[in-house]
Amino acid sequence: MAGDGPSAPREIPVALDVRSIRKSFGSHEVLKGISLAAREHDVVAILGSSGSGKSTFLRCINLLETPDGGEVRLKGELIRMRQRGGMLVPADMKQVDRIRSRLSMVFQQFNLWQHMTILENVTAAQIHVLGRDRKSAVEKAEAMLAKVGVADKRGHYPGQLSGGQQQRVAIARALAMDPEVMLFDEPTSALDPELVNEVLKVMRDLAAEGRTMLIVTHEMGFAREAASHMLFLHQGLVEDEGPPREIMANPNSERFRQFLSGSL
Ligand code: ADP
Ligand code: MG
Repeated sequence: MAGDGPSAPREIPVALDVRSIRKSFGSHEVLKGISLAAREHDVVAILGSSGSGKSTFLRCINLLETPDGGEVRLKGELIRMRQRGGMLVPADMKQVDRIRSRLSMVFQQFNLWQHMTILENVTAAQIHVLGRDRKSAVEKAEAMLAKVGVADKRGHYPGQLSGGQQQRVAIARALAMDPEVMLFDEPTSALDPELVNEVLKVMRDLAAEGRTMLIVTHEMGFAREAASHMLFLHQGLVEDEGPPREIMANPNSERFRQFLSGSL
């Protein structure tokens, strides 16, 4: 039957196509040409030692940093860049705003607005960026807060919540934008150990739903179970990549082997 059989996965369209991203800070070349093609429903785990460029890579994808070279395409739409004074800059800031709302990011430090209630945190961008009316933004926010298990916190302020609850709110805020791809930058690294699992559970549920996600993480068990593809960055390059179970069992790279054994 059409669509079944071993050739079916190849027909899944590429959601995010990142080619040869380069980025330097001064003379420090942090990314030396990183490429990644994530198909719809892919969950890509990005691993690497501290300082290997994982955050910079995510930030170049949604243009929180401007890459020095390379291309990013979201569902085939190229993010247009132009030269200015010898540097690349986005050609169209309106396009950047649109692309960013299609690529929601979840940060290590949650980045909730402390002076806004939980409900306001989850409705603000829906209203101001997507132009939703307040009623539908509130409905969407309530549904997403319920999905991540914090519906009862809607009237609270972030400071009244645990770290795990705050991160779940941040995930609800990202989901409320109906993103095509979600970017997570070490979403559990700032949490007390006993709060890590409640956030990983939400992320496992999102993976099971077929969300397309790029996740920088040090949670190796989670990455092995939840990710469909794994990328190991080292010194600005993709040092190893492949299906998680395969490359974790049989790393192609000696450095990845050292990383897995905890000695890198
Ligand atoms: P990771 O997330 O893998 O720990 P980062 O992407 O945060 O790594 O950083 C990679 C390297 O780039 C580090 O050496 C860091 O100090 C440097 N770096 C990151 N952001 C900046 C910046 N805005 N200015 C200068 N150096 C930076
Ligand atoms: Mg980082």
